[in-house]
Amino acid sequence: MADTIFTKIINKEIPASIVYETDTVLAFKDINPKAPVHILIIPKLNIDRIQNFDTINHPDLLAHLVEAAQKIATDFNLAESGYRLVINNGDNGGQEVNHLHIHLLGGRKMTWPPG
Ligand code: AMP
Repeated sequence: MADTIFTKIINKEIPASIVYETDTVLAFKDINPKAPVHILIIPKLNIDRIQNFDTINHPDLLAHLVEAAQKIATDFNLAESGYRLVINNGDNGGQEVNHLHIHLLGGRKMTWPPG
């Protein structure tokens, strides 16, 4: 799997505003936020997209990502007001960075359907 800019963030080669970190998961503020709170939650393992997530060999990783989202939402006072989790996959999904990431968006009322 090719490295991306997120690999550099994981390796602390470029700066990011990190809000959560464990052995397996990193979360940092999106550089171009689409909401008052916009956090990217990523596995440290280099997985390019959710479609290629090997759930058999990494059964705990998705749970770790969800746990991160829950904790971050609580930390940013979004647990009650609500928030949105988004995973873009591939071209039509609007994915620009080929390292699996969950967008956590909050702090405003989301609209539906998404564009
Ligand atoms: P996606 O379109 O789902 O691949 O989302 C990629 C996201 O990464 C976009 O929302 C970008 O603003 C964000 N992004 C790209 N480079 C950086 C960076 N160096 N630090 C933080 N966020 C970034």
